[in-house]
Amino acid sequence: MLNKLFFAFLLSTCYALSYGQESDIKKIEETCTNYIEGFYEGDSTKIISSIKPTLYKFGYWKNKNSDSYIGDGHMTFQQAIDYSKNVLLKKQFAKPDAPKKVEVLDISNHIAAAKITAWWGIDYVLLSRHNNGWLIEEVLWEGPLEKETNGLTISYIGNMGVLIASDSNAVLIDGFHKNYKPDYAYPSESTVQKLIDGDYKNFKTPDIALVTHHHKDHFDADYYQKFMRENPNSLVVASQQVNDLIRKNLDNEANLSSILKQVPYNDEEYSLNHKGVNIKAFKCPHVNPLRHSSVQNLAYLISIDNYSILHLGDSNWDVAKSVLENKKISDKSIDIAILPYWMLLDKSSTENVANLLVPKRIIATHIPPGFSDEAYENLQKMYPNITLFTKLNEQIAYK
Ligand SMILES: [Zn+2]
Repeated sequence: MLNKLFFAFLLSTCYALSYGQESDIKKIEETCTNYIEGFYEGDSTKIISSIKPTLYKFGYWKNKNSDSYIGDGHMTFQQAIDYSKNVLLKKQFAKPDAPKKVEVLDISNHIAAAKITAWWGIDYVLLSRHNNGWLIEEVLWEGPLEKETNGLTISYIGNMGVLIASDSNAVLIDGFHKNYKPDYAYPSESTVQKLIDGDYKNFKTPDIALVTHHHKDHFDADYYQKFMRENPNSLVVASQQVNDLIRKNLDNEANLSSILKQVPYNDEEYSLNHKGVNIKAFKCPHVNPLRHSSVQNLAYLISIDNYSILHLGDSNWDVAKSVLENKKISDKSIDIAILPYWMLLDKSSTENVANLLVPKRIIATHIPPGFSDEAYENLQKMYPNITLFTKLNEQIAYK
């Protein structure tokens, strides 16, 4: 009997405790929601009801170029109220679908911790009990909010041709070329047509088509003209040499010339933003300058969904080294470096990759159909993070 009573007492205590926790969770969620809505709706009464006047709030904001976080300064109780009033005054309300997530992390007797996800980023919040509810005492935050993405898909189109696709964008590099010599893989006509039509493996039409240089294992003018005629909202980015070849048959189609962007071939960096994709293009001389000094070979640094991809075209270390040093590519947090295989073959290559590019992943391209198994295996041993593109239309996912 005693045991039964004791058990019943235990049960009721547990219930009381969990009930207490539950109501505290609700109250903390309410306080944090008021804090978010105070800023979102410009409702300063919600700010006042959720924050202690002794608020300590400090944040870090990620610098887009350097990828490092920089202190964004303190916000006092009064500044929080003023911020909220300003939102109302200027009608700069948060978007209806802006995130508004509160997770209670821990609750003690008098203090608690929560995580807030809002449009500006992540806040870690410390609260204390106040009368019958909870108030925010301290906030440490970082921004901007990182988008949740499915990562990138990179498809092999032929030779150095790749299609890079994110959830919302697609960029094609050196993707349109025809049969030239047996050593160079090239896309079939149906692959090209699908890319132009936006039918390629369910990817959308490329928003941007980049060309490194005019050699026939990288480029075919007819295909680009067709691409431009069918996709007036996309862009083609290339050197003057390539632009001249594309323009040849576009005399009576002035409307198409705005699609064609020309990168000057000098030491300046060319920059362009289209549909949220950022492209930086720069001169990176062609391999074998004795024979190819007149070739305008461009390298591209592509920012898509916060990923950075580098494509060097037909270059090599002798001619590219100083360019890569000057552009400080090793500081750019390269996710994927797309290189011709000859830039990867020996010991100095591994050092150059490690020192000048520092990529998280390497894609080897320009691989001839007769590439030996031994060379293939060697490259895989030398670089643990390498993909060798040899089968047309093969794909890798990168997250
Ligand atoms: Zn070439």
